[in-house]
Amino acid sequence: MERHFTCTACGKCCEGWLPLSIDDALAHAERFPLFLLWTPVRAGGKSYDLTAQLGFQLKLKNRKQAAVRITPVSYVPTNMACPALKPDGLCGVQDNKPQRCRTMPLSASRAQSDQADLLIPKAGWLCDTSDTATLVYRDNKIVAGEDFQAEREQLLSDAEILRPFGQLMLDSQPSLRTQLQKIALRPHGGHLIINFSSLIPRLAKIDIYDFAAKQLAVMNDFAERTASKAEFSDEHERYKSCGADLQRIVDGAP
Ligand code: SF4
Ligand code: SF4
Repeated sequence: MERHFTCTACGKCCEGWLPLSIDDALAHAERFPLFLLWTPVRAGGKSYDLTAQLGFQLKLKNRKQAAVRITPVSYVPTNMACPALKPDGLCGVQDNKPQRCRTMPLSASRAQSDQADLLIPKAGWLCDTSDTATLVYRDNKIVAGEDFQAEREQLLSDAEILRPFGQLMLDSQPSLRTQLQKIALRPHGGHLIINFSSLIPRLAKIDIYDFAAKQLAVMNDFAERTASKAEFSDEHERYKSCGADLQRIVDGAP
């Protein structure tokens, strides 16, 4: 089985949640509304092995087990354009765009053998998948995997920070553990979302006040963009609540 794929830079996929490495998140803190996505996967579930490698274990009822992975994310509502997307459909940060965007449509968060469906464009996407487009996947293997490998290395490196951070958070906040256990037992799973700023003290040489000032402006902007739109009410409340926390940090600056 072969799959061909060439991006025609239509910009149609530049919307909604964008997973990021820690470094890419910090590099774009003036632009993206940053949060941390916690995703539990039950033992035996899809991508469980990779989640266990990148994350940590969570005990469930009846001796069941889950693995939990934490992912920094640009938390933009589904169907809302990435804030870096220009009106002409091109990326406004092309030279400095996140590794996730460079690896698209492949994903290092999935096994190399589990990429085929990602190479089928969604409705409205203008990707070229004709036989004359670039051959990217053959017999469940990626043909030229530099960006996939670069993204996987980021994931492995970030796991060294996110794994102990997650365990510390669970030990200090038992309610987080309970929420994750509930999500893990849902038939279709789900995510827990917390403020990115809780990770900053774990990152060397990052000034929490500088980070908070940048993110406060972004959260206020997104709160405004999502105001009075019923379909974005959850996101709106999250931007407002995160903005209030960031404001407290900014107000406490020396
Ligand atoms: S950073 Fe650029 S390539 Fe990535 S989603 Fe945003 S506009 Fe698209
Ligand atoms: S939808 Fe396809 S062609 Fe358009 S920007 Fe995304 S990957 Fe490229």
